[in-house]
Amino acid sequence: MTAPLLAIENLTRDYALRGAGGAPRSLRAVDDVSLTVEAGSIFAVVGESGCGKSTLARIVMALDRPTAGTVRLGGDDLFALKPRALARRRRDFQMVFQDPYGSLNPRHSVGRIVAEPLHLLDDAPRGGAREALVARALEDVGLPASAAGSYPHEFSGGQRQRIAIARALITNPKLVVADEAVSALDLSIQAQILRLILSLRDRHGLTVLFITHNIGVVDEIADRVGVMQAGRLVEAGPVREVLDHPQQEYTRRLLAAEPTLAVLGRRRKRA
Ligand code: ADP
Ligand code: MG
Repeated sequence: MTAPLLAIENLTRDYALRGAGGAPRSLRAVDDVSLTVEAGSIFAVVGESGCGKSTLARIVMALDRPTAGTVRLGGDDLFALKPRALARRRRDFQMVFQDPYGSLNPRHSVGRIVAEPLHLLDDAPRGGAREALVARALEDVGLPASAAGSYPHEFSGGQRQRIAIARALITNPKLVVADEAVSALDLSIQAQILRLILSLRDRHGLTVLFITHNIGVVDEIADRVGVMQAGRLVEAGPVREVLDHPQQEYTRRLLAAEPTLAVLGRRRKRA
């Protein structure tokens, strides 16, 4: 077994709440979460809206700092790194967001959007080398290299999410954090993007922290799943184990509320 690429230990994030007068209060958005993700695997974090998933994602991306606990990437404690060392590591972890419309600058060409993270490289390629990297990233996600010359509005939601994935991949990251990356898409398009993520994992050994409120997509994509409730990881394990034998009432409730894509597929075939 390989060493975990990502190791989150006892992670807690409190937000200070500014109430009107009175004692300062705080909200514990993430509460003592520990999990590990093996290199080349997909770990899904699932839970209701507001349970702390995006807070966890932002901390793993070092866009926010924990109140307590550690995040290790490839053994390095992200929050113990000096700012310059952290800046150099940023190429190793990239993020894909939910909104395939809002996350792409409408005034920038697709080529410029996809190339944007290249500034994180010590030796950022220019000219033809840069164009070649953009072309390869686009083809990698099933878009033609010629898409580089177009603008986001010329693409469908699913294609825009492919563009966002190409942008995330261009620095050849070790870890991709996908926060509700398919949640805004139609079901059939969701399935296509999930297949793309799986194929990227298989072809490049990508490691993915896949965050979703929809437990229905988890068995399509993840090797392991962690279930979050009110900031806490209440259950975690191999996907089949957790989905087939949920230990928590909360997990059973999520499962009852969200038929899986596979179930929906069977229903569609019967209809
Ligand atoms: P999820 O992504 O699972 O919907 P979030 O991580 O966005 O959950 O939010 C978890 C909790 O933390 C929520 O109660 C939310 O209102 C609160 N929260 C998130 N960001 C902030 C912030 N910057 N300041 C204060 N509270 C926040
Ligand atoms: Mg969220």
